[in-house]
Amino acid sequence: MTEGLLPQRVWLLVDVERLRVQDERFDFAFGLHTGFGGDRLRLGAIKIFIDGSLIGRTAALRQPYADPPDATGMLVKDPPTLRELIRCAHAGGWQVAMHAIGDRAIEVALDAIEEVMGPEAARFRPRIEHCGVVPPDLLQRLRRLRPVVVTQPRFLYELGEGFRAALGEERMAWTYPLASLRGVPLALSSDRPVVDGAPLRGLQAAVTRRTREGWALAPQEALTLEEALRAYTILTDPRYNVSMSRYNLAYRGAAYAAFAEKELGTLEPGKWADLVILDADPFETDPETLETTSVRATVVGGQVVYAA
Ligand SMILES: [Zn+2]
Repeated sequence: MTEGLLPQRVWLLVDVERLRVQDERFDFAFGLHTGFGGDRLRLGAIKIFIDGSLIGRTAALRQPYADPPDATGMLVKDPPTLRELIRCAHAGGWQVAMHAIGDRAIEVALDAIEEVMGPEAARFRPRIEHCGVVPPDLLQRLRRLRPVVVTQPRFLYELGEGFRAALGEERMAWTYPLASLRGVPLALSSDRPVVDGAPLRGLQAAVTRRTREGWALAPQEALTLEEALRAYTILTDPRYNVSMSRYNLAYRGAAYAAFAEKELGTLEPGKWADLVILDADPFETDPETLETTSVRATVVGGQVVYAA
């Protein structure tokens, strides 16, 4: 860091499998926890895998896959183990980020959040990473418990056709919903290197939900460009803040997901000056070609780290 070899900021999520549970604590954590580090390299949440992926047919579903019809995926954490891990995380000062893609896995995550964290779970900012298959009853629970949903719109473009093959037509309406998550803290990310990580590509997918094959996957779930930009940075739209200030949910989005809303997410005095300069105004650009916008410069902490 002192040599200037790390131009970007890194929040490192720790795989829970690297830690060992001993006497209801994480061994190997050496007293470290979420937030330890500096402004370039910092520990983020503990990542706990609950299931796999839709493309690999390992995401845990309540109803079988469309193909093959006898498969329902698998939970890689059973519910009692998951609860124990969350308790350990809390005892050690760690935020939890649960990888849950199938509806069965999301249900298990919500059960654990509710049981361990109680009705005020939102203030601990538990994260559900991906949140792929969300039928209406789980959507209701997400709106009530308000964990941070960290999801990846670029999946729609690169994997959308694969999702349809895995789940069939009917479940497409519940697949990687975005608009239905209004009222739930929402952060957009890339999951790089699983798909292309360029944020402008993610933005385009969030507002069009267009797949590589050219069809729109549940287009009613598209975000507006403003909503998508806010989810990538900081979500402060007063329309969604009613009665949520109790948990500081006035600030949500990606910065909130990382407990960094006082440092990142907007350009204002006292925050880090991290920004990009684009060669076109995204609000004046055809949504279907957003990703062709060029980055002229990237500024981190007020220093130009990239210039075209
Ligand atoms: Zn994941």
